[in-house]
Parts: sequence; C-alpha cells; structure tokens
Amino acid sequence: MRRLTARVLGIALAVTLAATTAIAATAKFDFYDRGPYQAGVPRPAEVLGYAPGTFHTTWGNMERYLDALVHARPERVRRESIGRSVEARERTLFIVSSPGNLARLEQIREANGAIADPRGRDAATIDKLVRETPVTVWLNYSMHGDESASFEAMMQVAYQLVAGDGADTKALLEHAVVLINPAHNPDGHERFVTWVNANGQGDPERWALEQQRSQPWGIYGRFTHYRFDPNRDALAMSQPESQQSSRAIRRWRPQVFVDHHGQTPSFFFPPTSEPTNWTLPHADYKRWVETFGRANGAAFDRYGWLYLVRDVFDFHAAGYWDVWPTLMGAIGMTYETDGGGNLALRRDDGTVVTMLDGMERHFVASLTTLETAVAHREERLRDAARFARESCAPPAGARGYVLDPGDDPLRAAALAENLIHAGVEVRWVRNAFSVKAARPIWSDAASRPAPKEGRGLDRTGNPEAPRAEVARAFPRGAFVVDAAQPGGRVARALIEFDRSVDSAFARRELEKYERNLRRGKNTPEEDYDFYDITSWCLPATYGVPAYALREAPPAGVLLAEPDPNAPDEATETLSDSAAVGMPFSARVSRAGPLVMRAVSGAIALDLRGRVEGGAAGSAYVWSSATDGAARLALRLLQEDFRIATATRPLRAGGRDWPRGSFIARVERNPATLHERIAALARDCGVTVAALDSAYPDEGDTGIGSYSVASLKRPQIAILVDGPGSQDAYGWAWFLFERRLGVRFTALPAERLAGALEKYNVVIVPDGNGGALARAVRDVDALKGWIERGGTLVCLDDAAEYPTLKSVGLSSAKVVGVKVKKDDKGDDDAPADSARAESERRPQYVPGTTFWATLDPMHWLAYGYRDARIPVMLQGSTMLTRSRDGANALVFDRTPLTVTGWTWPETERRLAGGAFAIDEPTGGGHVVMIGGPVLFRGFWRNTERLLTNAVLYGPSLP
Ligand SMILES: [Zn+2]
Repeated sequence: MRRLTARVLGIALAVTLAATTAIAATAKFDFYDRGPYQAGVPRPAEVLGYAPGTFHTTWGNMERYLDALVHARPERVRRESIGRSVEARERTLFIVSSPGNLARLEQIREANGAIADPRGRDAATIDKLVRETPVTVWLNYSMHGDESASFEAMMQVAYQLVAGDGADTKALLEHAVVLINPAHNPDGHERFVTWVNANGQGDPERWALEQQRSQPWGIYGRFTHYRFDPNRDALAMSQPESQQSSRAIRRWRPQVFVDHHGQTPSFFFPPTSEPTNWTLPHADYKRWVETFGRANGAAFDRYGWLYLVRDVFDFHAAGYWDVWPTLMGAIGMTYETDGGGNLALRRDDGTVVTMLDGMERHFVASLTTLETAVAHREERLRDAARFARESCAPPAGARGYVLDPGDDPLRAAALAENLIHAGVEVRWVRNAFSVKAARPIWSDAASRPAPKEGRGLDRTGNPEAPRAEVARAFPRGAFVVDAAQPGGRVARALIEFDRSVDSAFARRELEKYERNLRRGKNTPEEDYDFYDITSWCLPATYGVPAYALREAPPAGVLLAEPDPNAPDEATETLSDSAAVGMPFSARVSRAGPLVMRAVSGAIALDLRGRVEGGAAGSAYVWSSATDGAARLALRLLQEDFRIATATRPLRAGGRDWPRGSFIARVERNPATLHERIAALARDCGVTVAALDSAYPDEGDTGIGSYSVASLKRPQIAILVDGPGSQDAYGWAWFLFERRLGVRFTALPAERLAGALEKYNVVIVPDGNGGALARAVRDVDALKGWIERGGTLVCLDDAAEYPTLKSVGLSSAKVVGVKVKKDDKGDDDAPADSARAESERRPQYVPGTTFWATLDPMHWLAYGYRDARIPVMLQGSTMLTRSRDGANALVFDRTPLTVTGWTWPETERRLAGGAFAIDEPTGGGHVVMIGGPVLFRGFWRNTERLLTNAVLYGPSLP
C-alpha cells in the first residue's frame, strides 16, 4: 500500500480539483462536519489506505473496515448474517442504533413484526407499539455492482453513525434502527472493482478504457454471478441473493427502505413517474415519497446539487427492490446518483463528475432519509400499521387464489415456492374441494383440444368465457393463497394480470405513437415511458392453471419457506454424479422443491420421484409431460446411458404415453442403469414405469417400434461474448447448471468455427442478427456443421440471424425488414421515407404476453398439452412463417394478446407469423424462437422449448 501512496494522492488531488471546478457550491461538503466523533473509531481511509473516491474498495477490504468499526464501538453495532452469495461471500446486515435500542433489539424486531402482521392482536396493542417503537430504516447499497459510488458511500455512512457523537447523530440512533446492507450484489461488484482498479487512472473521457461502459463482456458488474439483473429479480426471487434479502426484509420489517443506484445525469430520488403499481394505496405512497423527496431536495439545495424527480423511474413492476418492500409495507425508494462507476466522467457540457461526487450525494441522501424517517417516526409506523391491517382484511377483489397442480405438480410447487420467497403465505390442500365461483386467471378461449393423445387438455375449465366465473372442483394437492394476509398485495401483483397502466398514461403513449409514425425518417422519435416489461402474471409464465376465488380458500397446511442458505432434500451436488467429471463440488442443481415442509416442520408434500415396478426386465418409460422428465433424460444422456424417445403416441405397460416420452432400454444399457435411474428419478421428481415386456397390448407403437428413435447425448455450447446478451446467457447458464444439472461450454463467438466439431448443439441466447453475422465470421463452417447434424438454436433477437441473406439459413424473414441485395449488417430499420408499415419494423413491444399455437406433431411441442401457450415478446423482432421449414409455434388466431401493453399495430404485425421455427438443414436443424423463452428465470413454461431443442434436435428429423 505504501508504495502506491504518491500515485494515490495524485489521483485524489486531480479528482478533488475536478470536483471543485464542476460544482458552484453554496455550502462546502465535508464528510466530517457532523461531529464531534468518538476518538479511536477509524475513518475509512485509515483502514483502506486511500482517500475516499480514489480507488474502488474490494469486498475483503470493506469487510475489514466494517469489522474495525464493530471492534471500535461494539455498543452501537450488531452484525447479522443473511446468507452467502453464489460465490460464497458472506452477506451481513450492519445494524446501527443507540446502545439502549440495541439492548432491546429483539423486542424492536418483534414489534415491527406485529405492526406488519397484526392478525390476532388488538388495536390498543398495535397502537402502543406504534408510539414506542423506533423507526427501522433499511439502507441497501450496491444493487448493481458497477454503480459503485454507493458501495463507497456506505462506509462513510457507517462511520458517521458509529463514530458520530453530535446531538443530531445521537437523536437519529435514539429513534431509528438502521439496517445497512453493504452490498446486495457482492459478486457483480467484485468483478467490477477488480477490473476497474486495474485500469483506472481518473481519466474522465467517455472513450477511456476505464469507463464503466467499457467493461469487458464477462465482467459487467451490474449483474449477479449468474448474470441476472438483481433489480428485476424481486419478482422471480430466483437468485439466492434475492431470496436472502427477501427473508431478511421480512425478518426485520423495515418501515423505510432505500435502494442506492447510480447512472443518471443528476441525482434521482422519488417521487416516481407513472405508472404506479395498482395494488398499492396510491395516495399514501405518493404522500410519503413527496415527504422524503422534499427533504432530500432541501438537503441537496443546500449544496447547490442538481437532482431530478418524477422523471423516468416508475413504480410499476414488482421486480424492483423499491416496489417489492413497499408492497410489504415499507416506503421503498430508489436513489440514483450521478458519479460512480467511474473515478471521473466528463458530462456533455464539459464538466466532470467524480465518484467522490456520487459518494457525497449518496451520503447526504442516506442521512437525510434517516432524519426524515425519525422526524415522521410515529406517523410512518401508524401508516405501516394501517397498511398491514388493510392487507390482512378481505380485499375488494378476489378473496383468494388456487394453483391447480395439473400435469406437473413440481412446476406448480415451483410457483408456490416463488410466491413464498416473495413473502406470500401459501397453503397446500390435501383433499379435493369445490368452489361455487372461480375465475380463471389466464385461459384461452380459442384453445381446442389437440389430437387424440392429450388428456385433460382443457386447462381453463371454461373455454367459452375465459374470464367468467364458474363452479369448479379442484383435485387433491392444490396450492391456495388467501388474499387477506400481510403478503396479499404481493400475491395480487404477482398472480393477477397487471392493471397499473391507467387510461391517462395509455393515452399519452398512444399520442406519442401517432406522432412517431408521422415523423420523417431522420427525425428522432419520442421515447415511450415504459421503463420495463408490462406483463409478468406468474401463473401464465409458469404455465400453471390458476383461479381467483370469491370466497376464502380452504385452510390447508401452511407451507414453510425453504431455507435459501441450506441445501434441502432436493439439492444435488453435481460432482457426486457419475461420469460427469465436474471438478468442483460447490455447484449444485435442483429440479425444484421436491419436498415442501409445513411450518410445523413435517413433510407436507413429497414430490420425489420413483421407479414403479422394481428393476425392469425390458425397459424404463417415463412421460414427456413434465419438466422433470426432460431433466431426467438429459441427466441420463449426460452419463452416457442410451435413451430413446417415442415420436408417436406410445402404448407400453398397459398405458398410453404422449409423443416425446422417454425410454431407457435394458438391453441397450449397462447394468448400472437400474441403480442410476432409480436415484435420478427421485431427484428429478419423475415417476418411471419399469416394464418387463416390449409387447404393446394394443396399437402399433411399442418400445421396440420403428417410431422409437435413439437420442444422441447433447454436447452443448452456448455462444458468449461479442454481440451476445449477457443476461440472456445468464438465464441459460442458470437453467443448465442449477435447474437441469447439465454441462455446457461457454463458447466465444470468434472461436466457434474451430470448436464446432466438439458439439452437436449451439445455443445463441440473444443478440443482434447483423452483429452476430459479423462475429461468426465463418458462416460456411457453421453451415457445414449443421449439414452434418448440428442443431443451431437462436433465441429472441438472435432469431433474426438465420434469416439474413448473408447467412441464408432460413426461409423465414423478420417482419418489416425489406429484402435487400446484401443485408449483412442490417442493424437498423429499413430506409423508407413513406414509413409504410410493411417496410418498417414493428413498434417495440415492452414485454407483453401473447398466445402462440403449437404444432403437436413437432418435437419442439413435445410435453405440452395445451393447444396454445402464453409466450413473451420484448422488442421489435417478429418472424414471418418459414416457407421451407416447420412452423412449430405460430401466431394464428386473434385475439393474440394475453396480457401487457400492445400498440394499435401489434397484433396485426404479429398475426400469421411464427414464434418458433425449425429449419431442417441436411442432417441438422436451425431452430429459431423469436422471444426470450428463459426470461429472468420465471418463464418456466417456455423453458421446455429450449430443452426440447437440445434433447430432440440432434436426433430427430
Ligand atoms: Zn442500478
């Protein structure tokens, strides 16, 4: 450290000078003017060895600093572990309050719990708690790991609260419990800081190597280990970090929650822009963010700092870490600073903003928020109590919900688990029951039973009037949610179609749309105000039939939350499995919640699979109809067992099996099959039938028939780097490693041609078609590989790649793209001054759900029982049908929209087109799926399209 001092000071000086010239301050900012401070409590620079804002702090050094604070003044601090990140960094809450409050911390936590869940308590008890309990404020830092000023500012805030002996700081700690989460996304932050420290010199130029936007493909610190956007995952709660945070927030029930970010032109704090999530009490929410916003504004005005409010950042989707805590009763707020992510950055007017600037703003906003929370302590707690009371009262709409386990109870259990991680109480009902009025949440009026093999094809129960209520009987094993509960608003926000976009907002967007269509081609379009997706109804994304009830659902068994920090019965360490050769033991995969426990601890629901009928003499057979089935087949293939599939409905063991069902023939496999299939069936949650005869009791298709085809072991490469989308890659990584337990190679696009022969499946998770064409330089090598049997799978925007003339791998086109002589590098909408609809790309679809019709004969559709399924589109890439290939999923019958925002043209542009195409090419396939089928880990029903491509593509014609 010492050898660096001269350089460090040099940077510090340059940074400070730049900051001074950039800001005409009315008051001079100083981190240390809120003293006096307790002697012996170290300031960050004393432990870290550099001045604030001159380097980025690594996880380990941050921990050293927080430990030093605890040692210096233990009477003001508690630390509490909340779990480990995927890369095993131990996450802890840093809890600061007065010694008196810390002495009764458990009592305060319990009071918060009672205020947030008043069931069984009288009003006088709650009123007493409201009067006597400090306000609990959660300060969340470093959500996006490359918005790094917040991580650095956190240490200054911690110092102020631990060391400050001024009357103001003491008053804060007397009336508030401060929960500091030092880093929501430690793994992403660590990737970023390692890279930026190695390159940073404080150069503000936008094109400099060290700028945040220059992060290499594999670094991008915004995302988690699995490259999920953590600030969208409060909806799916798919990542361990999200589950841990959710659990800790529910353990502490803060009344104020602030999530710190940073990539704006000036500081943003609420009030937010529209839309506002429909399940919230809007007037209360807006009053509170106005209160905090005005206080922050006054504090910033003191220094002459700029900020923005009511602009850009909405309060709509439940996946954000400001909306979700608010649904649970806090006032959740996003703060976004300018500065940070870079040591310095030149603004568009030539001035420079530094990381130090960002740290100062986060620091002031953090302390102002605490002061405001304390100033309004009783009012905030009283409102939180009222919010909770209203959440626990029967709501005006649906009184409860039922999730029908249908054909795949493991999938339904996964949805139940998602809801539980998001703070919703879910119960499991052992017995069948009936209700007089059930409204299908998602259902397809136009859906008709597919050909003969299907059972229970009508999953809506009411195909003629999809949203009307019907009397309905539910089978044993349904999951139910009582809407009158502390998590009732979360339940509505996640289960129902979103209703947040009101008519005034819609009218403004449509007016912009009309103006944009009239614009000349060189005139910039007006931006729309959709910040993120507009549909996320979880029963539809999971493909689980769900119903809203007018009456309270049956009681059932209250299910416990699985511990995100402890492996459960369903977790499997991959290195334990034979023939995989995985050199690390920390990687685990999990088919789903195979065992769900009651709150009492007893096993309520056991979904572990088994082999029925002992050791088979002839073959093992299992249905294709569940996610676990595909997982079991992939796992056995990965271990070099020989698996086959029935390309026609199969008759075996006295039962009918749908197309795509799997067969492991004893004669074709080593003797280890018996033991291995028993173990894997259990862990995949699959019921396997052991057969002792190949003779079909009727029909022409038995396990030895012509139409039973051998499956090749998928050897999978996923294209990374270059134009590939990092989060789309992350969703695929998470699916294969964590949910399927199947290995793949992350293959940089530039090395594709040289490595192709090692693989029979190449997946392109997303990416601009033209850019892919430039990155995959040797298209002839790719074509030759496909001819020899390779399966190329292109998802979402990458589905355009095969359609490019320079690539020539599909007879389909992208809607609105003019066929040009050479469309190599066709990144943009076609030049067309008339803006004729047919010659421009469709308007960007902001994450909307549509019905796609399946071709049940095609292997991409194996395992699905519905005639149509909901699929998501986000963007403006839509496919026409293929002339020469198979259109496995198409948009054929209007209305096409399930839920979410559409433009007047959207259904018109989509109608008649394809969602998924298979272009058989020589011995191989080009599979194009025009949407994000793995989107953020919660589109479970369309994951199967990708696993089908991987399972069947290399083997079936
Ligand atoms: Zn951010």
